Amino acid sequence: MSINFPELPYTFDALAPHISKETLNYHYGKHHKGYVDKVNKAISDTKFQNAKLEDIILEGDGMLLANAAQAWNHTFYWNSMSPKGGGEPGAELAKELAKHFGSWGEMQQTFNEKAAELFGSGWTWLILNSDGKITIEDRIEEGNPMTDGKKPLLTCDVWEHAYYLDYKNERGKYLDGFWQLVNWEFLERNLG
Ligand code: MN
Repeated sequence: MSINFPELPYTFDALAPHISKETLNYHYGKHHKGYVDKVNKAISDTKFQNAKLEDIILEGDGMLLANAAQAWNHTFYWNSMSPKGGGEPGAELAKELAKHFGSWGEMQQTFNEKAAELFGSGWTWLILNSDGKITIEDRIEEGNPMTDGKKPLLTCDVWEHAYYLDYKNERGKYLDGFWQLVNWEFLERNLG
């Protein structure tokens, strides 16, 4: 048994011009695959050899945890975007986001600010907390909110490899592109 390297949920050129085919080739085909391969190498002949990726994240440590979280985070990130995404959220989702942020636009603004202030590599997350509050939090490196008992709703990869080919150092422009692709339906499904 090994953990699965999931198919990209769209073609490599489907997110252009916001995210190029070249970026997806490297980001999915090299970076994401690399994390999956490292997990599979690390778990062979260990107690994790038949474990689910989520369990490895919750119970593993060190480089195994780091690679497992990166494998999970990337799949979640691909699903956070869609070639049919962007625009405005549906009325019900907009109402829910307004409860927590004032409006869905203010949610986006806060998300962008968090992504901008993240120092170095990491992920910006929209999170459902156990008390029902929706918050936006950064996690550095491979960080994943599940390890704090929180439920991920949406994520943006803010490692430089996610945007450097398309936007060079301009993380803010990459975030603008991300919102053109955001998969509101995926967020809605995660909210349950
Ligand atoms: Mn990445």
